[in-house]
Amino acid sequence: MQLPSEVERLGAGRVLILSTPEKSLNLQRVTEILGDRVAGVYDKAVMHVPLAIAEEARHLAQELGADCCVTVGGGSTTGLGKAIALTSDLPILAVPTTYAGSEMTPIYGLTDAGMKKTGRDARVLPKTVIYDPALTLTLPPALSAASGMNAIAHCAEALYAHDGNPIISMMAEEGIRALASALPTVVEDPANMEARSEALYGAWLAGITLGSAGVALHHKLCHVLGGTFNLPHAETHSIVLPHAMRYNRDAAPLAMARIARALGTEDAPTGLYDLEVKLGLTLALKDIGMTEEGLERAARIATDAPYPNPRAVEYDDTLALLRDAYEGQRPPK
Ligand code: NAD
Repeated sequence: MQLPSEVERLGAGRVLILSTPEKSLNLQRVTEILGDRVAGVYDKAVMHVPLAIAEEARHLAQELGADCCVTVGGGSTTGLGKAIALTSDLPILAVPTTYAGSEMTPIYGLTDAGMKKTGRDARVLPKTVIYDPALTLTLPPALSAASGMNAIAHCAEALYAHDGNPIISMMAEEGIRALASALPTVVEDPANMEARSEALYGAWLAGITLGSAGVALHHKLCHVLGGTFNLPHAETHSIVLPHAMRYNRDAAPLAMARIARALGTEDAPTGLYDLEVKLGLTLALKDIGMTEEGLERAARIATDAPYPNPRAVEYDDTLALLRDAYEGQRPPK
């Protein structure tokens, strides 16, 4: 395990380990490997980084005199490390265990009073990332599939980002190809190391594309649905993605052609939806806790301060998109 030597390369010796409470992540093992370099463990990371949790972890880091955060977990854990780094400059060594991709981005998010705010800051970009597919073997198949679709969403929006570029587009297309080819095997045979490795490779590419190009309507909707309606992150991305692609299809034909090519289909939105059916994913927002009454509010928040998007972001059209995602029907061709 390269963890101790990588901590030393950062010049650190008082590590604060961050994680979620799940036992399956085997924190005990990480703690043993790091030995007396461990100053403390904080395992209360939750989705969307509530400000109160961020404050508690920041105080702990200060109290312990920590000089580095080692994050072992998915985007929630990496996000907590970022919240600490944002106010303290502590370096992050990230050990991702999902396909969310946060470890490759300078993007942070904090949620306060039901509103999620995101920003970019070079201080929160992890200094070191260790990818170890063995740590993803315990990620349940359904969550693996949804998390993989979250990564595909990063790639898809990078392909039509207002500030994209040819290299990022190449990485994005390759990321979609790798994830779409690995995920069916990951779901069928979660202990298949080759498929896990390929999926993590796709997630790495996806993280880079997310960190390098702006996001658009799809990510905006998911931030609103997660931050304000507390819907689960990866599943929300997965459900909204085909409908967001349908919304943008005619406004971004080149991006859609590349997404379709990476999926091996003719049409990007239906190709994504069909992949989700194959992976056995939940397809409707109504099945993950969204209320019908909430749709109008979500559309309002998302359209009041939209991200740049290939097609104009209008309230009525966005509400129609959300209604389709709520019902979970296959988008029309
Ligand atoms: P997560 O980190 O919340 O993890 C989901 C669940 O899976 C948790 O219960 C976790 O303990 C468990 N888990 C994680 N890895 C596991 C493993 N290998 N085995 C067993 N269980 C495991 O989920 P996520 O989708 O990775 O992250 C979501 C959060 O990340 C959201 O808040 C989202 O906004 C943020 N995010 C941020 C960025 C960014 O660039 N800033 C990018 C992507 C996601």
